[in-house]
Amino acid sequence: MKKFLVIFTVFVAGCSFSQQTENVDFTNIKAAIELVPDSSKVIGSVYCEFKILREVDSVYLDAIDMAYIFPEKDENEVGFSYDSDKLWLKSNFKKGKTYSAVFRYEAVPKKALYFLRKNDKWQIWTQGQGKYTSNWLPSIDDTNDKIEFDLTIEFNSNYEVVANGVLKNRKVEGSSIVWHYDMQKPMSSYLVAFAIGKYNQTTETSESGIPLKYYYYPEDSLKVEPTYRYSKQMFDFLENEIGFAYPWQNYKQVPVHDFLYAGMENTTLTIFSDAFVVDNIGFNDKNYVNVNAHELAHQWFGNLVTSTSGEHHWLQEGFATYYALLAERDIFGDDYFCFKLYESALDLGRQDIAGNGTSLLNPKSSSLTFYQRGSWVLHALRGKVGDAVFRKAVKNYLEKYQFANVETSDFIKEIQSLYGKSLTSFVNEWIEQEKFPVYKALELLEKESAKIQEYLMVDCEAKNSKCADYLKYDVSDEAKVKVISQFPSLVNKNTFRSSLKVRQAISQYITKVPVELKSEYESLLDDKSYVTVENALYNLWVSFPEDRPRYLSKTRNIEGFNDKNVRLLWIMLNLNTPFYQTDNKQGLYNELLNYTETRYNADLRMKAFQYLKLINSCNEKCQSNLKEAKSHHNWRMVKFAKDMSEQLEQNKG
Ligand SMILES: [Zn+2]
Repeated sequence: MKKFLVIFTVFVAGCSFSQQTENVDFTNIKAAIELVPDSSKVIGSVYCEFKILREVDSVYLDAIDMAYIFPEKDENEVGFSYDSDKLWLKSNFKKGKTYSAVFRYEAVPKKALYFLRKNDKWQIWTQGQGKYTSNWLPSIDDTNDKIEFDLTIEFNSNYEVVANGVLKNRKVEGSSIVWHYDMQKPMSSYLVAFAIGKYNQTTETSESGIPLKYYYYPEDSLKVEPTYRYSKQMFDFLENEIGFAYPWQNYKQVPVHDFLYAGMENTTLTIFSDAFVVDNIGFNDKNYVNVNAHELAHQWFGNLVTSTSGEHHWLQEGFATYYALLAERDIFGDDYFCFKLYESALDLGRQDIAGNGTSLLNPKSSSLTFYQRGSWVLHALRGKVGDAVFRKAVKNYLEKYQFANVETSDFIKEIQSLYGKSLTSFVNEWIEQEKFPVYKALELLEKESAKIQEYLMVDCEAKNSKCADYLKYDVSDEAKVKVISQFPSLVNKNTFRSSLKVRQAISQYITKVPVELKSEYESLLDDKSYVTVENALYNLWVSFPEDRPRYLSKTRNIEGFNDKNVRLLWIMLNLNTPFYQTDNKQGLYNELLNYTETRYNADLRMKAFQYLKLINSCNEKCQSNLKEAKSHHNWRMVKFAKDMSEQLEQNKG
């Protein structure tokens, strides 16, 4: 899973009932489910198979708040009982014997399965990690029992249904279609998933012959290429780099509205936020490449081998972060790779200074620690033991523990046995101790990258005579951005002849535009970056009131990202430019107001609410939409709505 923001930790799925895995191994769950979206209900029929490991009289499946759960057939070989979160299967179970059970259930899940209605169309999708699949499908919350799940889903024939595994068949039954998906290998229950919506799809095939399916909304056909850019290259790269063939039958990626995170690596089926569905311009600012690579890497690290408990969570997130970075290096080059590591080392250092650092083995660590420190461990370890040992050990580790569960020591042992020397002090310094070894990390980077050395040298914290020269020289974009952030007044006409990234920094740090740079600054409105255009439009509008109509005319057709960042700013500025388009003000206000409605995505709604608050115009309709937003499924929307309501109340007072 990948978070949008590294601000708080979710940790997931411990094993409070780990003793059950010593009694029983659930091997197969076949579930046929039907969805009733109007009442957010799921009706299912389950066949499960399990092998008894120890003589016991009962085993269970987690099944939270199932409204109605009962054996389907009289000839069931086990007895049943249900208490609000467990379905107990009872018999005089004999060690070594395999049993099966068949039952039906109904549930109206409060979480883990979401029914969304946007513009009169349904979108239904799951999120198991951190939420528990057992809210909608009887399964096992403990990640240590891996099960082969086969989902059969019935839904209205106007929709596409995607689930784990391969689509075996698709049968029309009246106005519905029954989609039968098949998995061949087992996985932990938190990785079971499906998504339903109006989608088209396109397919590529990896070098190794794995079908890669990309889903998209029918209206987004022009965004397919930029959104999924480099997908196949990254897939091929990771298969080669990891040295262990992709372990599943196919790979599918599906964008959804208002997703809870950036993406989730369900086995063979990554679900990701449609905020990453971008056009060619949006690609330059906010693309899906990193999340794409991260969730793909999890198909090995997390899905094929899964950590036994929260203590070893970095074996999932650290590996996914590191391998995503390797895949990005293959595309964007060494400098990109080193600067990303540099930034994460600084973030980890700052976290320690703030007193929030933890050992990587602390299950309560921040996402920053699990993801970035985990990634740094692998980078440093590879540097220490060499490429050949590292790659071979990772391959051995995956081979040995495939479709099973792992702990940190399992991985370290594989490295150590090939390296031939003790890694005790490495493990202590990089993994166990509380403090991240930030100086050692920076030292490693300085040795590896001339660009990092240059970046550290280029420093205008205290202005010196060289600072202006840095912007002229052929230093890295990162170094130029650093100088601009430290001394915006050094920017001159020549600085505008730089890359998109440097020009973006100009739009960010020069907010009061000097007259002598006016025409160069105006050229930023043509940049292929919605971030730059948004910044530049605002700064020009503020700096040169007499030219406001010209700036507005030039940008009137730009929408921006999926949250319409440029359009919303444009409406705001228009409403505040009295002499421009005087007959259209009410229409624009209504447009802004409409964006607060439930049919729009959460990011767009939050922006629209904010602008309405800014101009003191959150009217009755706006407030009623805000109230509704407090019960949204996405916590960011809920938090936003609560905070803004409070502020509006205070302002009233
Ligand atoms: Zn992840």
